[in-house]
Amino acid sequence: MWYSEPFGGRVAVVAVIGGGASGTLATTYLLRAAAAARIPLRIALIDRHGQHGLGQAYATANPAHLLNSPADRMSAVAHDPGHLARWAAANGIKHDGYLPRAAFGRYLRELLADAERMAGPTATVTRITSDVVGLTCNGLQRPLRLHLAANGRIDANAAVLATGSQPPAPPCPLPASPRYVCDPWTPGALLDGVADGSPVVVLGTGLSMLDVAISVTGAHPETVVHAVSRHALLPREHRCPPDRAVQPHILQAPDRGPVDLPGLIRYVRVAAAEAPDGWQAVVDALRPHIPGLWQRLSPPEKRLFLRHVARYWEVHRHRVPPATARRIDLLRSAGRLSVLRGRVIAVSDKPPDLCVRIEQDARVIEVAAGWLINATGPAADVTATTDPLLHGLLESGLARPDSLRLGIEADARGALLNVSGTASDTVFTLGPPLRGQLYETTAIPEIRDQAAALAVRLLAACHAQAAPLAASGMAGSAA
Ligand SMILES: Cc1cc2nc3c(=O)[nH]c(=O)nc-3n(C[C@H](O)[C@H](O)[C@H](O)COP(=O)(O)OP(=O)(O)OC[C@H]3O[C@@H](n4cnc5c(N)ncnc54)[C@H](O)[C@@H]3O)c2cc1C
Repeated sequence: MWYSEPFGGRVAVVAVIGGGASGTLATTYLLRAAAAARIPLRIALIDRHGQHGLGQAYATANPAHLLNSPADRMSAVAHDPGHLARWAAANGIKHDGYLPRAAFGRYLRELLADAERMAGPTATVTRITSDVVGLTCNGLQRPLRLHLAANGRIDANAAVLATGSQPPAPPCPLPASPRYVCDPWTPGALLDGVADGSPVVVLGTGLSMLDVAISVTGAHPETVVHAVSRHALLPREHRCPPDRAVQPHILQAPDRGPVDLPGLIRYVRVAAAEAPDGWQAVVDALRPHIPGLWQRLSPPEKRLFLRHVARYWEVHRHRVPPATARRIDLLRSAGRLSVLRGRVIAVSDKPPDLCVRIEQDARVIEVAAGWLINATGPAADVTATTDPLLHGLLESGLARPDSLRLGIEADARGALLNVSGTASDTVFTLGPPLRGQLYETTAIPEIRDQAAALAVRLLAACHAQAAPLAASGMAGSAA
């Protein structure tokens, strides 16, 4: 299949790969920028699951899956924190400060639709459901060629990798079994069969585990969940209403030069103990400064952080709404959710179940799993990816892994760095793929700001390609 329409002619084409929050916000901001500058543009928004506007996090239909951040921190408009709450009120959506994630998905879709109405016919979007399996430099009028599954292709002037996080990696070799769910956020993963009342073992005890536990126990009255992780740490609960912000004084120091990890940890501990509103205010105030602090840590200290500190930062930084905490407490006190500390060392097939062996200090226990669900979070080594697009980009040297191999590298404005460290003029990224470089880059406030900055850069990239054509008299009509 050749997507010639509406991508024929000489109007610039931007391909956005991934229709989740990152791709949707990048497209929304790009439409607005193109409309404001009256620049004709065609955008191809491509998602393998057809989840345009939703992606992994906001495709859930379960009303008990709530946003983990209060509405005033989830606005898609940077300088208008009340935007989401006003949208919810206008649409009659009741909430206690934490909206259902499905409602947020609707919000994203409506923002995109509004931007489309405003920008058309100058700038338009075509939603395509397909897997992009390769991206190569074309060298013709449009420098990029996207290869779609089933032999389709799209030629584009610029592309945005909005592909989200890598799926979780298995903790040990696993038998091929339909009872193993390798990623709970694959569409339909928690619906097909998992609700048959047999015990569910969840790998990981973070936010995704809590959502899985809520889903599977809600779907069958006898389902019991055993969640296992090395330290059995659960996300903390948000204080409601959110704290007053504090300004950590460490950030008043000049923001250059190295930061030392032990000093930073000491500082956070003392500040948290002294903060009149407690540790939550300190964590929240630090959060926007994390990318800057992260880049000032040395590579060995970053590794040290990942190995020993990240798990504590994560449970304090990614907190659950009070309503979710109450549900989880009820499940635990009813014996329907147990949290196990230990390391999964082997899984074997013992029909009708899987047998999960867990090492706990000096002993090994066995737990029967009717279903085994991997909720351990994004895989930690991007170079081991089996994703054809990412694998091909790394293999060809168009992209390079960050020094921690958590993701790929880009310059400060999102342009992909190739294997020699040169910033691309045509391929950009935002959000989760930049985790190794920025650490805090997966939540809506960061994605929103990156998307807004990227829109300006993308228009400039398209303009730079159009200028030589116009000078040589090759450019055709814009429409
Ligand atoms: C369960 C959950 C809850 C969360 N809750 C919050 C919250 O409350 N607040 C907050 O700020 N953040 C939250 N987050 C963080 C969340 O990661 C971001 O908000 C955001 O959803 C990330 O969006 P994304 O578009 O980068 O990735 P994704 O949502 O993963 O979207 C990427 C899309 O790209 C598609 N794709 C990937 N590769 C290809 C390809 N080669 N070809 C075609 N399509 C492709 C995928 O199918 C997917 O649909 C949550 C995350 C999760 C997982």
